Amino acid sequence: PIMFATLSDRLADTFKNLRGKGRLSEADIDATAREIRIALLEADVALPVVREFVAAVKERATGAEVSQALNPAQQIVKIVHEELVTILGGETRRLRYAKTGPTVIMLAGLQGAGKTTLAAKLALWLKEQGKSPLLVACDLQRPNAVNQLQVNGGRVGVPVYAPEPGNAGGIEHGGNPVQVAQASIEEAKRKLHDVVIIDTAGRLGIDAELMQQAADIRAAVQPDEVLFVVDAMIGQDAVTTAQAFLDGVGFDGVVLTKLDGDARGGAALSVRSITGKPVMFASSGEKMTDFDLFHPDRMASRILD
Ligand code: GDP
Repeated sequence: PIMFATLSDRLADTFKNLRGKGRLSEADIDATAREIRIALLEADVALPVVREFVAAVKERATGAEVSQALNPAQQIVKIVHEELVTILGGETRRLRYAKTGPTVIMLAGLQGAGKTTLAAKLALWLKEQGKSPLLVACDLQRPNAVNQLQVNGGRVGVPVYAPEPGNAGGIEHGGNPVQVAQASIEEAKRKLHDVVIIDTAGRLGIDAELMQQAADIRAAVQPDEVLFVVDAMIGQDAVTTAQAFLDGVGFDGVVLTKLDGDARGGAALSVRSITGKPVMFASSGEKMTDFDLFHPDRMASRILD
């Protein structure tokens, strides 16, 4: 993808310099490690992640991993690929469904992260897996948020549960998002939906009240999965925001949005290592189908393509 174009090019140049070498000297390995370090830093990868990555590559390149089948340049590519897969989380982390009753997925993240769009994309993806999702509008802060989820739900043909007069949490309840979330699960049971996707309120910046609201919803409905949605284009801020949501709300997995953007993409490479939580889904465009499980191995291959 465009997002990693610079990183891809720089790594390719680094590997090119090794081509034709019969054996790598310590100086070759040092130079390579330095170039990889610069490439990652320029791509906005968080410094602790860069350090760990480069140290691992250097150690393995220096070590006894001599393969008869691969020349030194190929060996470095292989090591870098494997280390990329490692920092991206290793295995693909799949959704965990509830054993009984509807699976509850809660989305959290900043305003503009792409949460509402993502909610609909996830709903469509689940529908294509044979599930019957229900979207839930718990962002009662922004006047237009409920409407926006309804529009997106309409695009993918998935119903939206929203606080309307008559529904719990509706006007007569003062628009209480915790009540809406709780009532939506009852609604899902009544209407035989097997997955509930709760879209929560976002703000432009990290905000204690917003965190508390999301934490309250989480405590009340005990979701099977809490997904933190983050715009991959916001660079290092993605890592700071992820940490704040981890501390304030807690989450099980990360969704990276706007991976089709032309930003440097370091966030995508850092968030797993920094938070310890896996990237589970990737959103990569304006179309409702621009969405899939996040596969660390495929992402690493694309970066090294
Ligand atoms: P929310 O405030 O977190 O609910 O964010 P929205 O879902 O409203 O998205 C904010 C903007 O980002 C909208 O203009 C979306 O069309 C756009 N957007 C969302 N996801 C993606 C994506 O994966 N790629 C691109 N290019 N744009 C996206």
